[in-house]
Amino acid sequence: MIEIKDLNVDYFGNSALEDVSIEIPFGHIVGIIGPNGAGKSTLIKALLEVIKKRTGTIMVEGRSISEFKRKIAYVPQKNDIDLSFPITVKDTVLTGTYPNLRLFQRPGKKERERVEHCMAMVDISDLANKQISNLSGGQLQRVFIARALAQQAHVFFLDEPFVGIDLVSEKIIVDLLKQLREEGKTILVVHHDLHEVEEYFDKIIILNKKMIAFGDVKDTFTTENIRRAYGSSLGNVIIKGMGGGDND
Ligand code: ADP
Ligand code: MG
Repeated sequence: MIEIKDLNVDYFGNSALEDVSIEIPFGHIVGIIGPNGAGKSTLIKALLEVIKKRTGTIMVEGRSISEFKRKIAYVPQKNDIDLSFPITVKDTVLTGTYPNLRLFQRPGKKERERVEHCMAMVDISDLANKQISNLSGGQLQRVFIARALAQQAHVFFLDEPFVGIDLVSEKIIVDLLKQLREEGKTILVVHHDLHEVEEYFDKIIILNKKMIAFGDVKDTFTTENIRRAYGSSLGNVIIKGMGGGDND
């Protein structure tokens, strides 16, 4: 499990996460939801040690997260990716194999075969030699998912993977995440459209700087918690938009 205790992050004196403590068991698809600026991406970046300035402890299976980092694959939020960099689909996916190579080792036949396999899993084999700058949003997201697969990670972090993509790509990715879960992998997904929460996730973390709630979707995804995270006026608009009543 991933054990986060008293995590605090601030940017230049403005706090982004306050006293966040969660124990996330392995083997689930976990949604991270909350309003804009709630610290969802910050939470993931703190887990990846992209953000180093923090207090609190983060352990995986009782060891420090640093020792486990190679086993975590990360698909960043779209606007965090530099698409002007000239690189093909195939070579992008190949970079997923790098964390598991030894120092100065180059990817070989085994890695290239794995790349072919991972591209096939998200149906992008025919795009292998295209530049990533020429892809649609959905194709691009599948490339980054294939790259994450090539890393052979145990834990996957995806930051808003469904933003700006087509329905076919979304379905391919969701099915794949469920398949990974069946293999015992752990998947954390930052997500902001609340409509699919029940369909996509086993558990959710509801965040607004502080932890609002964490648990199984059926117990945690309540109108009460949504109001607490989004504030009562915005919360009510969201709940109404989802066709929910105010019976809890
Ligand atoms: P979310 O992903 O939930 O929308 P973020 O984690 O990106 O939220 O941001 C949380 C808060 O921290 C926001 O108020 C945001 O403006 C601020 N923030 C995020 N990244 C930085 C940064 N690099 N420098 C300064 N402030 C930041
Ligand atoms: Mg974000």
